[in-house]
Amino acid sequence: MAKCFLFTVDSYVLEEIWRKESFVFLELEGFCMHYFITGGAGFIGSHLCEYLLEQGHRVSVLDNLSTGSMDNILHLKGNSLFSYEIDSVTNVPLLGKMVSECDIVIHLAAAVGVNLVVESPVQTIHTNVDGTEFVLKEANKKKKKVLIASTSEVYGKSNKIPFQEEDDLILGPPTKGRWSYACSKALDEFLALAYWREKKLPVVICRFFNTVGPRQTGRYGMVLPRFIKQALSNSPITVYGDGTQSRCFIYVGEVCKAIYSLTLEDKAVGEIYNIGSQEEITIADLAHRVRDKVGISTEIKYIPYHDAYTQGFEDMQRRVPCIKKIHQLLGFSPEMKLEQILDRMVDFIARFS
Ligand code: UDP
Repeated sequence: MAKCFLFTVDSYVLEEIWRKESFVFLELEGFCMHYFITGGAGFIGSHLCEYLLEQGHRVSVLDNLSTGSMDNILHLKGNSLFSYEIDSVTNVPLLGKMVSECDIVIHLAAAVGVNLVVESPVQTIHTNVDGTEFVLKEANKKKKKVLIASTSEVYGKSNKIPFQEEDDLILGPPTKGRWSYACSKALDEFLALAYWREKKLPVVICRFFNTVGPRQTGRYGMVLPRFIKQALSNSPITVYGDGTQSRCFIYVGEVCKAIYSLTLEDKAVGEIYNIGSQEEITIADLAHRVRDKVGISTEIKYIPYHDAYTQGFEDMQRRVPCIKKIHQLLGFSPEMKLEQILDRMVDFIARFS
């Protein structure tokens, strides 16, 4: 009974209780919350919708399909707990309405992918900075908890491995477009933490490290779906630079689990968390692993960065997260190895593209 009462009466007093008592009620069995996901038709967003629906929650999505796709959420349309609006987070009246109807906001809508960032820096900066500003402003009106998606890209050119949440951010100069993405997301983080400190808006920030899985498209640069598609079509696998740069890939399902747990954990409020795997691999090795997995002998072609992106392009050489903080809070550490991730992705891409 207490549950229904809490969500049908909208008063200052109840909001105070909500904040103070935090998520005590949420642990009651069968508790249904309403999550509002911006960018819910994107790659991570659509997996998160599935995950939250599986946990028995209501999910509403706002997505302008700029990098997301209806195909990602079509299968959820029949679910009575699922709803969506195709529009932008810059439609403030709609955004405000959707925020006021939900219990928790997960803000994933962003310009993502190095290709997009390099080709459309104006769009990147506006989408990332304005979008987050609108979301925080609307959430603040009703003091709705907001989880802000950020990125490992914010660590920039730091060579202090593994990257820890408190580390300095070492960004390249504004003349190199790539860093506008990191800078815009860092500003989102500053703004979110400012709302927490100054206005007591509960926020949580996640920095995602190279999340991969089914439905990820290589269109905006993401390396793994690109390599798999290339191998499956017996085209050359395009390694940019000399291939010694490395990344750690985490399966999207594990990221969803971490996001969900963070939304339930009161101690996460006002904090930043890395979410990633620590299984590091160079991009050249990744190309070989993909080629072996697909079982073909296609060429591995090395392409200079200035041909792949733009003149003067700067890459991140290594990107490995420290995950002590999230592990200490939630006991979270990713279990799926790259081998299994490759199996799943090769299988998915072979069947659906
Ligand atoms: N990359 C590559 N070939 C491709 C696409 C990407 O060698 O076809 C490289 C890219 O330069 C980077 C790494 O793979 O060093 C990861 O790129 P991605 O765009 O997936 O994500 P990032 O980690 O750069 O955000």
